Amino acid sequence: AKRNGRGIARLFDESMDEGIRFRRRIENGLGGAIEKGELSLVYQPIVSRDSIEIVGFEALVRWNTQEYGPISPAVFIPIAEESNIIHELGDWILAQALEVLKQWPGQYVSVNFSPRQFRRHNFVGHIMQSVQHAGIEPARLQIEITETAIFDDADRAADTLYKLRQMGFRIALDDFGTGYSSLYNIRKFALDSLKIDRSFIDGMGRERESAAIVHSIIHLGHALGLEVIAEGVETEAQVQSLRIAGASHLQGYFFSRPVPAEQALALATQRFIG
Ligand code: C2E
Ligand code: CA
Ligand code: CA
Ligand code: CA
Repeated sequence: AKRNGRGIARLFDESMDEGIRFRRRIENGLGGAIEKGELSLVYQPIVSRDSIEIVGFEALVRWNTQEYGPISPAVFIPIAEESNIIHELGDWILAQALEVLKQWPGQYVSVNFSPRQFRRHNFVGHIMQSVQHAGIEPARLQIEITETAIFDDADRAADTLYKLRQMGFRIALDDFGTGYSSLYNIRKFALDSLKIDRSFIDGMGRERESAAIVHSIIHLGHALGLEVIAEGVETEAQVQSLRIAGASHLQGYFFSRPVPAEQALALATQRFIG
């Protein structure tokens, strides 16, 4: 066939249609996923640098569809985020995580909140209500947000974080280093920890640049009085370098993959890893 402009345009339209159909399927599927029992949470330990004690667990959502099998949160969360589905989904995730937390001896649970959830009207009241309903101390919930959530409307975000922290919640800035946050602005936000993005940990052994970035983030965090959690730690060599660099907490497959609630409970009661 002759490759004219119209043909290319039609091809483009068709692949657009394909993308839209895919999103529709995800959106529709998510709508019924909770009732169908297709969603679950897995928990990954966050360990202290010295004693290798488990201080908390990050909750990560899983979606196993009857129709297409498992779909990654990296795929469906951004789609849910573009509609109000994220609120129903997020509420379910939080309630579920708080319920499981009741059985753990003292650790916190670290829950991911998308920018749209964070900017929701009365987010603070909503979170407070959820922990009160579950009978959980605010200090046992860590709220993970990304730079995107707070830098678009920095003043409002600073206010929200301040209130949350006043109430005793822990706040972690996730995927730190991948966004376009100005380092100067960081000090405006009430935070407890920075989470160094996995991509830097992964590059540490290979490129001097990544290692330099990891060191800088750790220094910055400490200078601001924050904990620094290194995520995506997979090897012994990374553990050693991160300890030397001074990361306060580590998380990754080296210690444990994210595991279902029952296994997490076994780890939590045991309190130590390795
Ligand atoms: P994230 O918050 O940065 O989560 C860390 C991701 O790295 C998780 O992928 C985790 O399973 C994976 N991971 C942990 N340790 C290692 C490691 O040592 N090596 C490697 N290669 N990967 C590791 P997952 O569970 O697929 O989640 C992907 C993203 O989806 C999350 O990135 C987060 O942005 C989003 N997400 C997951 N669960 C939730 C949730 O409950 N709510 C919201 N809003 N977003 C979520
Ligand atoms: Ca996270
Ligand atoms: Ca992360
Ligand atoms: Ca991420």
